[in-house]
Amino acid sequence: MFRSVFSIVCSVFLCVLAWGTEPKRVALVFDDGPTPEQAVKLLAILEEAGVRVSFAQVANTMQQHVSTTLATRARGHEIVNHSFLHRDVESLSDAELEKEIGGAQRMMTEVLGEGPRWYWPPYLKITDRVREATAAAGVTLYEPSSIVVSKDYDNSVSADEIERLATKGVTDGAVILFHEWREETVERLPSILKTLKEQGCVFMTFSELADSMLTEAEQ
Ligand SMILES: [Zn+2]
Repeated sequence: MFRSVFSIVCSVFLCVLAWGTEPKRVALVFDDGPTPEQAVKLLAILEEAGVRVSFAQVANTMQQHVSTTLATRARGHEIVNHSFLHRDVESLSDAELEKEIGGAQRMMTEVLGEGPRWYWPPYLKITDRVREATAAAGVTLYEPSSIVVSKDYDNSVSADEIERLATKGVTDGAVILFHEWREETVERLPSILKTLKEQGCVFMTFSELADSMLTEAEQ
């Protein structure tokens, strides 16, 4: 009797242990960068942790810091189209929207030698017009299974809260959203990465995550 209870307790424990460490594929995205000063700090932290991420870059920023973009990509990070001027799509005419998405794609193609594979919308705004404009521009709208929002875009949100939100409720296939310009995010990143690793997270770029989810769906 004692033995069977003991073995049930053991197998439940092992099951919990295995479930708890089940790898979770996640992609970190840093919006609005890379920019020279922040990139130096961020890339060093990511390199130290052995983590590659995606940078959702505004084309206008890329134009000003081409060498930073190229150096970031050379380290294995993915560069994603995040519009031309980061405008709110709802206020735009069709021609303006085309410039935001298609214009950014053309400019980035020139800089990178090939167009970014993904479009990641400013303010996470996805409308039918955005869908049409991305399709017309030959870029794919990135739509992950879930998005973990650190709220680091809000300056009233503290470093502690950013760290708490970025590591809470992270599921397999999730994108965790940060902003490159937020000092507290960069400062807390080593600790955030450590916690996520303890939760069993495996870090991927947008493309790696999408391909991995697709391969799994096909099996
Ligand atoms: Zn943005």
